[in-house]
Amino acid sequence: MKSLLLLALGLARTVVLGARIEAERIVVSVRPYKREQRRCPVCGRACDFYDMANRGAPRLWRAMDLARSACYLEYAPCRVRCPEHGVRTEAVPWARHGARFTRDFEDWVAWLAVRCTASAVSELARVEWHSVGGVCRRVYAELEAARGASRFDGVRRIGIDETSYKKGHKYVTVVVDHDRGCLIWAHEGTGKDVLNLFLDELTREQRRAIEVVTADGARWIRQLVKRRCPNARWVMDPFHVVQWMNDALDAVRCEEWNAARAAARAARPRPEGKRGRPAKGELPPEEVRALEEEAASIKGSRYALVKNPEDLTDGQRARLEALKKRAG
Ligand SMILES: [Zn+2]
Repeated sequence: MKSLLLLALGLARTVVLGARIEAERIVVSVRPYKREQRRCPVCGRACDFYDMANRGAPRLWRAMDLARSACYLEYAPCRVRCPEHGVRTEAVPWARHGARFTRDFEDWVAWLAVRCTASAVSELARVEWHSVGGVCRRVYAELEAARGASRFDGVRRIGIDETSYKKGHKYVTVVVDHDRGCLIWAHEGTGKDVLNLFLDELTREQRRAIEVVTADGARWIRQLVKRRCPNARWVMDPFHVVQWMNDALDAVRCEEWNAARAAARAARPRPEGKRGRPAKGELPPEEVRALEEEAASIKGSRYALVKNPEDLTDGQRARLEALKKRAG
């Protein structure tokens, strides 16, 4: 039974002491090998015993589920006194420092987190969604330490953008590395102070190594980048240029639509219209219809105007031709 649990839970340098079922979950009590006990969680060196952490009460670590049951490892760690790091709760071989999940469980959650939404991960793994961030931080820190390089090393061309999520209720600042095509930093909130947090994380050399920064047209971003990344060229990001162009085009289209609609309305006969000669401004029905059609075609031309020519549908192409003809 114990060796089965050791295998199923993939535990290394650990002894299984027993297992029990408790409120529909499986609790496996474990301890590190004797030579793995009393180790500093930061540097890993063997240290002197200080006292029992949490007054000797056992602590639980969530492990991978055993079939459909949630599984926990149980152990009462002690505190050690490291000559370098002071009094700390001892390291355990099955979990990262400060984690309440086992290493395997965290690896699994982090793998999911880069592929699914936080809410999907939280539902599938049965963890609080706000603990997913901590899991990812620990896994990432370990990967980065193993690689021996900071994710900001060698970054030359970056993009800065402020965007919203939760239907525009929350804002976030993101920084991407254009060369590697990946996100390298993100933080809740927008503005100078948030961007400064990113720049503070870079070393002086890393800031000087940045050659190009793309961003929207905000003057404060430009000034901040100029001050803190002296070798960077500031480039307006084409996404925003195209967005502004589209907005401007759409404003003109709306004006034209309103004008055409007003013209059609003015030309339409009044409902109780008299027989005989049309009143001033009234036009024969076929001309009114032409005006109404014109208004409708401007209304429907939004996508015909902004699409790439090769992506136009036949209807959109015809609409665009008609607009061109009208504009002369
Ligand atoms: Zn230490």
